[in-house]
Amino acid sequence: MKLHMQILIALGLGIKRNWHIFFGIILGIFVGIFMHGRDLPIVSALLTFIGQFFIRLIQMVVIPLVVSAIIIGITSVGDHKQLSKFGTKMVLYYGILTSAAVIIGAILALIIKPGIGAAHYINSHTASAVQQSVETAMAQQQNTLNLILNFVPSNPFHSFAMGDMVPIIVFVLLFAVALAKVGDINRPIVSFFESVFAATMKITDWIMFFAAPGVFALTASAVSSFGIDIFASISKYLLVLTIGFAVQMFVIYPLFLKFFSKVSIITLYSAVAEALMVAFGTASSSATLPLTIACCEKRGISHKISSFVLPLGATLNMDGTALLQTVAVIFLAQAYGVVLTPFLLIQICLLAIIASSTCAGIPGAGLITIALILNGMGLSPEQLVAGFAFLFTIERITDMMRTLVNVASDTVVVSAIADNENEINYDLFNDPSKYQDIA
Ligand code: ASP
Repeated sequence: MKLHMQILIALGLGIKRNWHIFFGIILGIFVGIFMHGRDLPIVSALLTFIGQFFIRLIQMVVIPLVVSAIIIGITSVGDHKQLSKFGTKMVLYYGILTSAAVIIGAILALIIKPGIGAAHYINSHTASAVQQSVETAMAQQQNTLNLILNFVPSNPFHSFAMGDMVPIIVFVLLFAVALAKVGDINRPIVSFFESVFAATMKITDWIMFFAAPGVFALTASAVSSFGIDIFASISKYLLVLTIGFAVQMFVIYPLFLKFFSKVSIITLYSAVAEALMVAFGTASSSATLPLTIACCEKRGISHKISSFVLPLGATLNMDGTALLQTVAVIFLAQAYGVVLTPFLLIQICLLAIIASSTCAGIPGAGLITIALILNGMGLSPEQLVAGFAFLFTIERITDMMRTLVNVASDTVVVSAIADNENEINYDLFNDPSKYQDIA
């Protein structure tokens, strides 16, 4: 049987186990289409409420989970040589996959040329209701260096309070490495965080009871806000993105796993199907993180590896975002007649790798950091504003798709590293009938 068929069947098996979440997505799409253009304030308010209720619940456990997972993960590795080996491998693997994503995005955008002739359509969006978001993105553009400076928290508690994931991770990583270095004296703190981790995983289980209605409401709200007519006018742009995401999921990831491990992509997708569906519904890798960890750990990937690699991946590894950013920038360049020299293309690809990894795993973040790439493209301020406004109009659906790819990529890397380090229980991983349910 062809590989893509096997993968679809595997996803189907994962979905079967958690069909109610999948059903929530499908029903959400239909309800969203029905609601588009209709004035149903009470229903929309109710959907927004249910969706936000679910997102808030999972966001609630993200910080305690990330902190405890990283601390336990790093201190359990202990030996700093082994730690730097994991760390180097993780950066290398994440780097390979993100580079593949930007290259695929660039090739597809250059072949299909979605931007040619699109300037008129883009310009008609300038005065839309997304002005506020456009202004935020434009302000970011002037602050590229600040973006990097902001990685270092001057007050970690402020970062915790604000939920700024990158500075939180920088601090927790340093703290965890220091704990690992001080030896046995770290026991009380490590046991404390072991309890925190176990309790937050339990809460995640409970929250998953709300996954189906939550994902339904989020999908319905998203679809009702843009309808399906938008697809016709920007079909080429969406086509490039969809093909790009599919190539990444069904060609690059399987090849990567074949080359670097003996993990079967089919089994992996089946094991993490719930996380992929929730990533699609929430458009947030960070919010999905508790579930990503739960899927991996309950299905055979060791805690030692997943607790270290997944939190970092949810924040730094964004293949789907990198692919979208590359395509979006080339799209705007084509629309406005910017000559794409080989040098400019390389610059776009490199900046997309950086911009995607500096973006937080929350909805919409990838579009804001795109400003980093657009800077220096030679577009006029008016063109930039129009370009952003246009991208914002179709933001949610592309965000849902790219977040699913982002989370899939994290699970590919974690399973490859776990395989390399003999940290997968293959008896469990390869036998979905033994999988523990989440919730
Ligand atoms: N929403 C994406 C994520 O959470 C980030 C992005 O906006 O691209 O992974």
